[in-house]
Amino acid sequence: MALHFYNTLSHKLEAFAPLDDDKVRMYSCGPTVYNYVHIGNLRAFTFQDILRRYLHHCGYELYHVMNVTDVDDKIIRDSVKAGKSIGEFTAEFRKAFEEDAATLRLEPPERVTPATEHIGDMIDLISRLAEKGHTYESKGSTYFRIASFPGYGKLSNLDVSGIKAGARVEQDEYEKDELRDFALWKASKPGEPAWDSPFGPGRPGWHIECSAMAMKYLGESFDIHTGGVDLVFPHHENEIAQSEGATGKPFARFWLHAEHLLVDNQKMSKSVGNFYTLRDLLDKGFSAAAIRYLLASVPYRKQLNFTFDGLKAAQTSIERLRNFQRRLEEGGLPEGANPAITELAETARKNFIAGMDDDLNTAQALGAVFEFIRDVNTKMDAGEFQAGNVAEANQVLDLFESIFDVLKTEQSGQVSAEEIEGLIAERLAARKARNFARSDAIRDDLKARAVILEDTPQGTRWKYGA
Ligand code: AMP
Ligand code: ZN
Repeated sequence: MALHFYNTLSHKLEAFAPLDDDKVRMYSCGPTVYNYVHIGNLRAFTFQDILRRYLHHCGYELYHVMNVTDVDDKIIRDSVKAGKSIGEFTAEFRKAFEEDAATLRLEPPERVTPATEHIGDMIDLISRLAEKGHTYESKGSTYFRIASFPGYGKLSNLDVSGIKAGARVEQDEYEKDELRDFALWKASKPGEPAWDSPFGPGRPGWHIECSAMAMKYLGESFDIHTGGVDLVFPHHENEIAQSEGATGKPFARFWLHAEHLLVDNQKMSKSVGNFYTLRDLLDKGFSAAAIRYLLASVPYRKQLNFTFDGLKAAQTSIERLRNFQRRLEEGGLPEGANPAITELAETARKNFIAGMDDDLNTAQALGAVFEFIRDVNTKMDAGEFQAGNVAEANQVLDLFESIFDVLKTEQSGQVSAEEIEGLIAERLAARKARNFARSDAIRDDLKARAVILEDTPQGTRWKYGA
């Protein structure tokens, strides 16, 4: 099976190929920078990172654009509260977002760009919609008339027979299933930031920014649009209406939506208050690698129920991978190559790729890697793993790492291999000198730092683990 994605627009699994031969043009709805992002948001961004990396693995070049929403109702409200200009206020949280993304090793999209630098593009798009009869004005604001766009509802499978003509909504966010004309341009209110426009002074609605920015950089039709499931309606439905209403051409071809991260079976969200930021979890001593692993390990179309046990299990999985990697580095293996291992490595690679090809099934991909590690560990214990097999085993780990990227990073607080080797040598010397108090202290100290020593007839071995 070649690469397939579940396309929210067609409501089915489809084989993926870009419009251009080898270049994928992709747009992602970025963060609203009025606060620190929480790990629910970061799940959506981690999914995008996994998608990017796998598209690269498939040989595609990428042009990926992400907006930063730096003007909306919440930003205006909170910047006023903080006594700052919206520019000052959002700069701080944009920087924090970029730091968090880097900590989680999320590759930056080729272009990340703020809404406020594209007000002119939004005004142009609204003017095009006005010329085509998709807009009307009311009390200084300009609205999109959803009854004027026959395709409205096709993404979210919404029954639009109940559209109430003229029912309008001003807010950037509104209730699900509220079928209402939405604001493209909002009349300026006292104390709010405003830009001049042919429709009077005001500011853009939230939805128009993504249509304008996506089409500016990616063209009127492009390959992939991503976001969290909460954006399907109304945000993405409205993006389609605005874009296709203006151009008459299909907007994004593939729509990929990441399911929610839940806490106690409720969506993690700022408004409910049940959220953790990345910083909260790092402060509790969890490593960025474990958080990344947890977010990536559940296939993106499945809900992910966040628990601390899940995070600890992610940590243990990484330790298993690291211990296996170290075993490969240990040397002292018999000469030659065992063809049974070559076959296991081939199967692991094939299953990993089959999983990822199937709508980025990361759980299946991980299953392939852990099955391989289990089988190879058994062969190693039996002395059936040979020097000539090391490279192919490493290739399996490299394939895993090119997507998951959790092995290279030093974990916060983790003892380095060099320090461990040094302490093992010191412990050996202490034992030779019959200083057992010292040798036991070294072992206990390492245990407290999640390193386990094992004395074998061949010498002292160590592994990461609690
Ligand atoms: P926002 O900053 O609210 O615009 O959201 C940024 C991204 O995070 C969007 O793609 C949302 O759909 C996504 N998102 C928000 N909450 C969650 C959650 N609990 N789980 C997964 N994704 C989320
Ligand atoms: Zn958007």
